[in-house]
Amino acid sequence: MEDRPFNDISYEQFLNEDKLMGSRCRQCGALSVPPRPICTKCYASEMQWVEMRGEGKLAAFTCIAIGPPLMMKEGYDRKHPYVAGVVELEEGARVVARVEGVDGSKPETIKIGTPLRVEFLHRGEADDAMTFLAFRPV
Ligand SMILES: [Zn+2]
Repeated sequence: MEDRPFNDISYEQFLNEDKLMGSRCRQCGALSVPPRPICTKCYASEMQWVEMRGEGKLAAFTCIAIGPPLMMKEGYDRKHPYVAGVVELEEGARVVARVEGVDGSKPETIKIGTPLRVEFLHRGEADDAMTFLAFRPV
């Protein structure tokens, strides 16, 4: 796994394996999730893979009423919006993910700072198989 390139394809492969992985800059220690081949802070290109524990808290969110077809197929629509959030991981990086177990039709009930734990949503089969990163209140 150490040999995988620091890009979105590797990131998704790791998600398929139920791993949330980021890249850490060997120069300055900055963390990126998803991984980046070049450090966004110091522009060094020496990276290493690090696995996130999958604990974090909700930093921001939006309720999405008109989602991509895949989300509509899962039963999300205008009356049942799904929630996309920015999760601040324990390790310090921020990652965009679906937020499960909250009511997207009642945004006022969703609180910034809610402790969340990672979940890997496996959808589709064979060539269509995809894994979505999600978080759920602890
Ligand atoms: Zn750096």
